[in-house]
This record gives sequence, C-alpha cells and structure tokens, in this order.
Amino acid sequence: MKQRLKIRHKLKKWGCIDFDTCVFCNSNVEDIEHLFFNCSFSRVVFQKVMKNCLINREMESWRREVSWFSKKAIGKNILARLRRIALACTVYNIWKARNWMIFCNEVLTVEDVYRWIRQEVLMKMYMRRCNSSLFLRLYQNWQSCSLSD
Ligand SMILES: [Zn+2]
Repeated sequence: MKQRLKIRHKLKKWGCIDFDTCVFCNSNVEDIEHLFFNCSFSRVVFQKVMKNCLINREMESWRREVSWFSKKAIGKNILARLRRIALACTVYNIWKARNWMIFCNEVLTVEDVYRWIRQEVLMKMYMRRCNSSLFLRLYQNWQSCSLSD
C-alpha cells in the first residue's frame, strides 16, 4: 500500500489546493498511516471499534495493526466474522468521511463517523443473527451509541 496519498500532495504542488494536511486534525500531512491510525480522530474511532469487537489494546503502527487485526479475523466463527466486517466498515467510513470533508466541505465529528460504522455493522450483524450468548454480547456492544462506554 502506498504510504503517501499522492493526489493531494500533487494538487498542492500545482497550486490547486493550499493544504495537504489531514482534514480531520489539520495538523499532520495526510498519508495512509496517519489517516487511519495516527490521526487522533481515526484513533478514537478505531479504539471504540476494537473495544466493541472485544479487543483491548493500544494501537501501534498501521502495518502492525492491520496484520494483527487480520490474524484475529481469520476463521468462520462469529467473532472473526464480526472483526472482518468491523475492520472493513471502519476503513471504508473513515475514507468516506475524509472525502465528504474534502469534496463536499462537510464538517463531520468522530461521533458522526462512529454512527455510520455502527449502523452498518449492526445491519450486517442482524442479517447473520443467532442466539449464542457471544453474539448477543457483541450485538449489545455495538448498540452502544457513546464513544466513551
Ligand atoms: Zn489527522
């Protein structure tokens, strides 16, 4: 995966845009690692997603997280499936939020992005619902609206 999102960097060089800083925190140059993991904005989202998926751990670098999370998401059991869904939804929605903020001038909060992820994950879980206690516990985790729970 390319570390630098070249497009904005080039646009800045050509004078089309004034900044190539991250739209979420406005304090770092936007690259993949920053956008998804090092950014304080994404970090809050990811920590909550990981907690909802029963993962309690501090995040390190992007590459390590992805490979670690992927290993925890192998298999057909409910937890592995949920982690795959949650990881995909999180990456997709952070990217979507970034694009909305850049191209539509929308101002989005961490709560907004978490709400999008939560809705998608709950919908996908509901489609695969079952009566196991693990499923019910995970479903309950995801029903929580607050980022600080
Ligand atoms: Zn940032």
